[in-house]
Amino acid sequence: MRFHADQLQVLLVFVRDDSQCKGFRKACEKAGFKYTLALEVQAVLTCFLAANHDIIIIDHRNPQQLDALTLCRSIRATKVSENTVIVGVVCRRDGEESVMSLISAGFTRRYVENPSLLACYAELLQLEFGEVRSQLKLRACKSVFTALDKSQDAIKITSEDNYIQYVNPAFETTVGFESGELLGKELAKMPLNEKKADLFSTKNACMKMAKVMGAWQRTSEVLFSKQAVCVEARCSFTMRSSKAPVSTEPWSAGRGNNALFSTCRKIRHYVSIIRVNSGNSKAEKITESVHSDTPTVASQRRHSSVARIHSMTIEAPITKVINIINAAQENSSMPVSEALDRVLEILRTSELYSPQFGAKEEDPHTKDLIGGLMYDGFRRLSGNEYTLSTKNLHQISGSLLVSESLHNVPRRIAEAMENDDDWDFNIFELETATQKRPLTFLGLKIFTRFGICEFLKCSETTLRLWLQIMEANYHSSNPYHNSTHAADVLHATAYFLCQERIKQALDSVDEAAALIAATVHDLDHPGRTNLFLCNAGSALAVLYNDCAVLESHHAALAFQLTAREDRSNIFKNVERSDYRTLRQAIIDMVLATEMTRHFEHINKFVNSVVKPLAELEESEGSGPNPRDVDTMLRSPENRTLIKRMMIKCADVSNPCRPLEQCIEWAARISEEYFSQTEEEKKLDLPVAMPAFDRNTCSIPKSQISFIDYFVTDMYHAWDGKDS
Ligand code: AMP
Ligand code: ZN
Repeated sequence: MRFHADQLQVLLVFVRDDSQCKGFRKACEKAGFKYTLALEVQAVLTCFLAANHDIIIIDHRNPQQLDALTLCRSIRATKVSENTVIVGVVCRRDGEESVMSLISAGFTRRYVENPSLLACYAELLQLEFGEVRSQLKLRACKSVFTALDKSQDAIKITSEDNYIQYVNPAFETTVGFESGELLGKELAKMPLNEKKADLFSTKNACMKMAKVMGAWQRTSEVLFSKQAVCVEARCSFTMRSSKAPVSTEPWSAGRGNNALFSTCRKIRHYVSIIRVNSGNSKAEKITESVHSDTPTVASQRRHSSVARIHSMTIEAPITKVINIINAAQENSSMPVSEALDRVLEILRTSELYSPQFGAKEEDPHTKDLIGGLMYDGFRRLSGNEYTLSTKNLHQISGSLLVSESLHNVPRRIAEAMENDDDWDFNIFELETATQKRPLTFLGLKIFTRFGICEFLKCSETTLRLWLQIMEANYHSSNPYHNSTHAADVLHATAYFLCQERIKQALDSVDEAAALIAATVHDLDHPGRTNLFLCNAGSALAVLYNDCAVLESHHAALAFQLTAREDRSNIFKNVERSDYRTLRQAIIDMVLATEMTRHFEHINKFVNSVVKPLAELEESEGSGPNPRDVDTMLRSPENRTLIKRMMIKCADVSNPCRPLEQCIEWAARISEEYFSQTEEEKKLDLPVAMPAFDRNTCSIPKSQISFIDYFVTDMYHAWDGKDS
């Protein structure tokens, strides 16, 4: 904006045209200012109102003859004096006295008497380039504010710490508050009622429809929808300060933040413009109108590319999250905004669900368990070529066939299964009683208890045969990953299915899927970890591209074996669409036992089930509304999360069993790990878990690490706690 450069007008108010007065007159002539000399106090006000001088110089050396303070007050009482600079000339002897009396009377400056032309001239020049110029800018600003007041866009200016400094009438109408109620307050803290929430519903609507944008290179934010257009621009104005020069380019881009920084890199004001349009305005047009005075070609190009990005329709959830955080930043104080920048950085760059290794993971067992269980060939590949001996799939030999129906199982076995609905149930006793075939017997009992044959419309004989085939395809030679582990996981799953909350959430398809998934979840496990198979270049790792190798194999083999023969196909009478649902649920649960996504499953469960449930329980004084809980728990997404979490808890339930069983499981898994380490050394493969060396490993310590890192939080979450 250009400021007017007319000849400055000076009003000299003196009692006599003495040397001081002459000094100023001559200085005015020298500077080219037009001056008026008023020797009569009564004439001063009329004279000023007629000419509206830029500078008034009043003689304050002799208060008895000229009451300068009263005169100044009466001038200030007129509205037109708002931008006038008033100087008081004081005696040299008064130079040491307080300036407060002058300031409170309305003087802008004090001049200690000095009649020399040079001193008067210097004073006038300082006034011209200092106070007078600032006042001219302020006068110009007023006209800009008049324009803002008339604007139909809702405009708000806030300070750097988010306090409202200006709102225009359109903004008042939009939020339903008058400016008096808003100024000096934070908008986010205003008690918006529904009637007054237009702004936020508009903003939310905009956010919902917001298109992806390069938030990190952008200089403004443009959010638009069919009904509404919301333009938010953050900008800064440089305050004149003795240290920083006045910025000539206030729109220079910021330091990785989405805000704009002036050349002194300090944001002083935020300007928000909220535009509500009824038509389909184009983002490009708005971008131009907001930035029509941007200084560089480069930034104009950037704007048009931002506009192009806006026209794309990428609506990934992460994009929405980023846009919402971005919008929230606009109303946040600087520390909050900076914290949100950090949040955005994490969202954009990190593995979201895996904890970052910290000091805690200095422990060798934890480090090895994380490395050995949570990494697969995708993250750690070795060039070693090694193929596991391909194992033939097991047929059931005649001697293994269980011909008895559930009603006539041998007494010893029946007794070993008596308390199968107890958490303390001892699976090892059943292992002994069944000669290492606990899965078939326990499976038959549990599946029958849950009415799975009726649900699948298959005979008990089909189920029995199927269980036998599944059990035969577990490696009885594995110390840990054998059919006793599968039976143990089946037992824990059945136990969880009887819990009230789970019964409330899951239906009969879920139940059948969970029991079948538990039964098959480690089928044909070779007693080696995924990382081993990838490092060894095993056939399975090649087949499944080093991703979730074992879990993919367990699930795929289960369906292959089931479909192989009609007489053992438990799915043969299931309707096609039910079969698809069942199959999908089973595969999903088996894949969920893969440990690389351990923390993802827990976090999703906590965020989508545990926290909403806690909120529902807290929100109602007399307990939660059962219908709300039902709706939340039974959504397809949440049922999936519950089932995943259930099989995961069942899969690592061994540390939660009675101590003597827990110790037995620890010995078995450690033996399997030791054996893997030995084989890795023998074959010159990378050792996945060096701490699991039978000569040096402390099994109790390794168990504490496993429990601390993998089990405790998961069981807390399963128990309904979110930390
Ligand atoms: P799964 O192979 O499906 O049984 O997945 C569970 C994972 O947890 C496997 O990698 C097991 O080796 C591991 N795991 C289970 N129980 C323990 C335990 N007590 N100590 C150490 N690792 C265990
Ligand atoms: Zn398992």
